[in-house]
Amino acid sequence: MYYPLNEYFKLFSDCSIVTGYRNAILLDFTRPNKSNFVPKELLSFLNSCANKTVEDVLNHYNNEDKQVAIEYLDFMVENEFGFFVSDKLKNNFPTINTNLKKSPEIIDNVVLEIDGNNLKHLKSIHSLIEKCLVASLEIRCLSLTNQELEQLILSFSASIVQSINIYLKYIPNSMQLDDLEKIATLNSRIKKFIAYGGDYNATSTINRDIQITSKKFNENKIVRANIINLSYHIESLNVCTYRYKKLYISLNGDLKNHLSCDKVIGNIRTDKTEKLIEFFIEEHSKNENWFIKKSNIDVCRDCEFRTVCFTNNLPLKNNQGGLYLETECTYNPYIGKAVGEEGYKTLEDCGVISNEKGFKIDHEKITLINKELWEE
Ligand code: SF4
Repeated sequence: MYYPLNEYFKLFSDCSIVTGYRNAILLDFTRPNKSNFVPKELLSFLNSCANKTVEDVLNHYNNEDKQVAIEYLDFMVENEFGFFVSDKLKNNFPTINTNLKKSPEIIDNVVLEIDGNNLKHLKSIHSLIEKCLVASLEIRCLSLTNQELEQLILSFSASIVQSINIYLKYIPNSMQLDDLEKIATLNSRIKKFIAYGGDYNATSTINRDIQITSKKFNENKIVRANIINLSYHIESLNVCTYRYKKLYISLNGDLKNHLSCDKVIGNIRTDKTEKLIEFFIEEHSKNENWFIKKSNIDVCRDCEFRTVCFTNNLPLKNNQGGLYLETECTYNPYIGKAVGEEGYKTLEDCGVISNEKGFKIDHEKITLINKELWEE
């Protein structure tokens, strides 16, 4: 492949490489499907490419390493992860600012549990959502009739909310699949509609985003999911994505930061919207848990998924003032293996102890395990 030797090679600013203990991933925020594991050395190679011409970078390597460097360039160019730029223009492409943006919303994400009773308080719920400038809403519907569900969905027709996900406890016989499909398409803000828990065998997917499933929906368990999205990545670099500007409204109208939180900050049925907003603003300035990022947590700080994973596995303080996950994650970043994969080992089996007493790591043991697992 031909390369302009007197030019510089830059990573597109919508791509980022996150390195973990064993692995690194290249995140492509515009084309998430292109994101992939890459060698950890690629990051330092790209850093030198940003300040030296291609010729200077290649001259730095001996013959064998030069071949690897050319392979890196081939990979980056073939996959369109970066571009060549002249000396004159090389400073015209600033990197994306990853500081947390000051945005006006008080709450950006609400989980709303709703049944026939809560439906009576829709006016207050809407008032709160509008005043807090909520962007995303997850509605968990229990025991709603067709008419109630329709009323609920239509009530968001002129809402400020940009995206709505609906989880509906499906009641066989009272709702036919056709009716559900019609209701689910009443509002274009609905991005996902899942009816769950029906007493039947089939799981049907009407389309990619509307699914009817007999599986149970476990509200308490949110599995690790990878969200390759630039604003989520920036949020993860700065705050706790499970708590920051999040609100949970329970069936009895209680407002909490999130489902597993003990502290009730108000009630939608009894408190005035203005008073609730005062609570949130106070939480924002005082609740230090909102600002715990993954890089503050033992083990997570060594994980390449730390800016794209979403988990409700919240950290606890250890005796040394650090933070640890009480429940071990299903992914072990020291060996790059997840539960169920061949060769997976727990942290303890790898010589990593992370608990209320503190954090300890046996690098030698991990090196031996990785040799066994990954070297041919
Ligand atoms: S260890 Fe688990 S919870 Fe922590 S960043 Fe990695 S995937 Fe997320």
